[in-house]
Amino acid sequence: MSKDIALPAFISSLHATEGLVRSILCRTQIGDNRELGAAVEKWRSEGLALDEGAMESRQRSWDEPKSVATAAKLLEEADQLSRARLLASACRESGLWLHALPVPTLGTLLDAESFRVAIALRVGSDICESHVCRCGQRVDSRGLHGLSCRYSAGRHPRHAALNDVIRRALISAGIPSVLEPLGVDRGDGKRPDGISVFPFTDGRCLCWDATCVDTYAASHLIHSALSPGSAAKEAEGRKRRKYAALGNRYRFEPIAVETAGSYGGTTGALLAEIGRRITDVTDDVRETYWLEQRVGLAVQRGNAFSILTAVKDKYDDRSLGAL
Ligand SMILES: [Zn+2]
Repeated sequence: MSKDIALPAFISSLHATEGLVRSILCRTQIGDNRELGAAVEKWRSEGLALDEGAMESRQRSWDEPKSVATAAKLLEEADQLSRARLLASACRESGLWLHALPVPTLGTLLDAESFRVAIALRVGSDICESHVCRCGQRVDSRGLHGLSCRYSAGRHPRHAALNDVIRRALISAGIPSVLEPLGVDRGDGKRPDGISVFPFTDGRCLCWDATCVDTYAASHLIHSALSPGSAAKEAEGRKRRKYAALGNRYRFEPIAVETAGSYGGTTGALLAEIGRRITDVTDDVRETYWLEQRVGLAVQRGNAFSILTAVKDKYDDRSLGAL
């Protein structure tokens, strides 16, 4: 909250400007800064202490101890669902989409309603009124059911968007690729999502299959509340087993992201590798960062679509009194 940041901002600003103030004014005219002393005293009264070697002029030095204590308190008091959300939100990759510059022509602008839903999912606030989904399940005000409902319309666009992000990234790295490749199957007629046209590593083409699994689905929640990214890690393992037959000819890589934004165990490494390949072409070291932002936006856009359409599909033509 802003009031939590106010004191660290005030104290660090006074420290940062102290030298300048003293160089402008005569030392004997200002003496000790009583306001600074009072502010530090107030900050310490909450049981906080500066980390060893912390710079007093950096706001982060004063802000971090309070943030760490608040995060620990939130986790301690959280129910299972909130715990899964808090752990996922603390993963670096889950918040990268928030840093994307909202540029419509780059596809990095979320519409207002998608942004509302994405923020509500991240902070755990209400998304909708409680209602009954068309699958028959009661949906509470947090609206999370829409993320994994079998009638959800957002799952397919989210999956397609993820694959499109990967295909475009590979093209930017000078590696053309095709989606749903013909003639490549894992032995049961099922095809991977995409394949590079030319060899990617060690003379083998990159073959990938992407998935977005729901952090909060009943089957994942117990593990999500213990370890962030566990649903995505499990999905990666499942895909590696299913596509094991392709391993001799291709380099198979699963891409697994959770609805809360966390990656599985190897997805981050693959995205970083693709990002480095793009950097080789563009000389811009931020390529991985931007790729991760685009992946995050694709997931958030799909999440919002899932939740919003799950409600609209059922209630558009009916009285809202049926809620
Ligand atoms: Zn449903």
